Amino acid sequence: MTTELKIGDVTAVPGEICYGRWEALTHPTGHVEFFPLIVARGRHAGPCFWLTAGVHGSEQAGPLVLYELLTQDLVDRLKGSVVAIPALNPAGLRTRTRDPYHAKVDPNRLWPEEKSDRADHPDFDPPTSLERAYQRLYVEMTQSADYLIDYHNAWIGSLSFALRDRILYRGDDAQDKAKAQALSDHLDDMLKAYGHTVVTEYPAETYLKENLHRTTSGAVLQKGRILAFTAELGTGLAPDPDIIKAACAGTRNVFRWAGMLDDRAEAIENVRVIRPGYPVRRMRTPRVSEACVVRHLVKAGDRVGKGDVVAELRDVWGRPTGNGVIRSGYEGIVLGRSHGVFFYPGQPILVMAVRDDDASIAPYPQHYRESMNPSL
Ligand SMILES: [Zn+2]
Repeated sequence: MTTELKIGDVTAVPGEICYGRWEALTHPTGHVEFFPLIVARGRHAGPCFWLTAGVHGSEQAGPLVLYELLTQDLVDRLKGSVVAIPALNPAGLRTRTRDPYHAKVDPNRLWPEEKSDRADHPDFDPPTSLERAYQRLYVEMTQSADYLIDYHNAWIGSLSFALRDRILYRGDDAQDKAKAQALSDHLDDMLKAYGHTVVTEYPAETYLKENLHRTTSGAVLQKGRILAFTAELGTGLAPDPDIIKAACAGTRNVFRWAGMLDDRAEAIENVRVIRPGYPVRRMRTPRVSEACVVRHLVKAGDRVGKGDVVAELRDVWGRPTGNGVIRSGYEGIVLGRSHGVFFYPGQPILVMAVRDDDASIAPYPQHYRESMNPSL
């Protein structure tokens, strides 16, 4: 093993798991916020796989996956290295909230993008300390990573699934399009190896509008052109042991696919894996048309046909509102129920995986391209 792997204060040692810190930011109180590092290096050469978790503080299953996965037995058999960070948002994990208390923005929408930043414009807030930390970490990540998985949780009782980003390319660049397609095909192989239900993200316009290209895995994939996906692990504040086990098995299967382990692929057990037979993408649907109380009639993993009744709708006294039910406008799978039972007009009561009519790659929209290159 010739190439040195050094991250934060850790220098990887072949055959060992090393622990350390990556200095992220300093609080005004003088306290230094660090990201904990776990670096596991096999005795034989191979790819470098990054695993990250805890960017949303209320999603706490990911760290448990890392602890269960990174064992001495794994390192003894590993070809290559795993760099793991179980707490990308330590402040949020302490308070069990999605955002950190020192920067009230979604931390998983702060990673670098292709568009040039406007940090020096006097009318725009400059990047927060956390965003600056992610900018630095992104550089280190993309220098060493061959692959990345970022672990999250979706909703209470939701399905364990992998979120697949549509790869964006420059519409006027045939070579970039060909590269995006090759990367996309490779990503499909990686997701197949993970073995859980696979759901593609929103169409490109919505994806960019919601800054999903600036998630941890989104940035590494779109800007870094490194294979990456987000693993959604069901309930966040009461992690499901079966999903943790299945995520570990899936991750080891991805290691095997990447040539980092030699043994046979493991079965993904005790979680529902849905293969609808057609590509699916996520959608928040159906939405209620008036204020009401909802009693869901479907749960995560259920297949739903277009026109199927998915919930009963009542007023607060328990009497039916409208025709008393809501139907699905789409054929698909239920990924999870929206939390709560009291809904305002326009709110979605489910998140579903519905038929994906768009390609697995998409050109950057014109307005985004203009901001990528102001001279256009
Ligand atoms: Zn999340």
